Amino acid sequence: MYNRQNKGKIALISVHGDPSIDIGKEEAGGQNVYVREIGEALGGKGWQVDMFTRKVYAEQANIVEHSPNVRTIRLAAGPEKFIGRDHLFEYLPEFVKSFFNFQAQTHTLYPIIHTNYWLSGWVGLELRKHHLFRHIHTYHSLGAVKYRSVTTVPLVANTRLSVEKQCLETADCIVATSPQEEQDMRSLVSRGGNIEIIPCGTDIKRFASVDRDSAREKLLIDPDAKVILYVGRFDRRKGIETLVRAVGRPEVRKHEKLQLIIVGGSQPGQIDGLERERIETIVEELGLEKITFFAGQISHSELPNYYAAADVCVIPSYYEPFGLVTIEAMASGIPVVASDVGGLRFTVVSSKTGLLVESKNSPAFAEAINRILSDPAWGKELGRAGQRRVNSFFSWDGVASQMEDLYQCQLAHLHREFFATKVVS
Ligand code: UDP
Repeated sequence: MYNRQNKGKIALISVHGDPSIDIGKEEAGGQNVYVREIGEALGGKGWQVDMFTRKVYAEQANIVEHSPNVRTIRLAAGPEKFIGRDHLFEYLPEFVKSFFNFQAQTHTLYPIIHTNYWLSGWVGLELRKHHLFRHIHTYHSLGAVKYRSVTTVPLVANTRLSVEKQCLETADCIVATSPQEEQDMRSLVSRGGNIEIIPCGTDIKRFASVDRDSAREKLLIDPDAKVILYVGRFDRRKGIETLVRAVGRPEVRKHEKLQLIIVGGSQPGQIDGLERERIETIVEELGLEKITFFAGQISHSELPNYYAAADVCVIPSYYEPFGLVTIEAMASGIPVVASDVGGLRFTVVSSKTGLLVESKNSPAFAEAINRILSDPAWGKELGRAGQRRVNSFFSWDGVASQMEDLYQCQLAHLHREFFATKVVS
């Protein structure tokens, strides 16, 4: 709800993750959701929030008003076309210039700038050379972790690693979304700098709004079907192959009326389109075409139906700093089977809200999925416990309150810094 109080201005910078676009394709995922939800929740609490992103297409509006005090502002930075995040670094100086122009034209200064992902972190470091503000940063993904699990690293890898280290050591506060992410920062990036743990959240009302029967009716799913759900981007590190190979194993296949639903968008010829083709080939190779349904990109308004219709949601990622899909499934009352990695160890309590399984291990995933499908009463119990856990710890409103406390504290530091500068000069 719109709150007329004006607590101050905040800039959320998310160069490659536009908070206003459709989620689930062209690299749009958790970061876009995070920025938008935090922006809107803070707007509701009386902050003036501007969310800055790169303008990707000529036909996109330069400014999108979400509510009277929350906007997405699209800045010029490079050609108006989709450019993958590994190729955006060279356009960041133009982004910084556009940000300064916007500030000058609108006579706006932001005492708090919260950057998201290393590209925006670099922007924050550059802005700091010219202005006094408090710099908060959320990584969303750490190069030091990511490059351990890929065979070819992009050309920009060294730059990324050094920007991530500089951010950790010099930003005023780093927001880690899970204790596991904090540990990774400390062991792989640097011992210096301030870290605070504030988790991601989810819209608990939206995801608990649909019941299983009406969801199945709407999606034309047999009431007796056993539905296994995947939601997320087509990216090799999401481990969709592990899931498909698990479904192909006899302990899962033995279930009658089995269905595997894979939700997520892709563009033919792009990285996500190529991954979808690779997954389709594995589905065919295992003879799973008849029971596998590629739903494509689904909006957040429709997604609750998919979660509610499922018997189990599987998150087979090789690594996740947090993993929004997990808490969305839990908020929907659905048991999860997730890789025993990163932030998934924080959100999922194994044997209480779902099962944690060794990543990349299809037989282990098959066994866990089979345990849940074979005992629907236990599955429901896990789902209910998951829902309680999300309600207690992971609502956007609760997360935004923690973020607000952090900002207030940073503002107090800024005032002290400002007056110290005045006294000295
Ligand atoms: N998502 C969506 N539609 C899709 C696929 C994904 O809205 O078709 C959303 C999903 O609901 C979640 C986000 O994309 O909110 C993915 O976030 P997560 O943290 O799980 O993964 P990331 O994309 O950040 O790696």
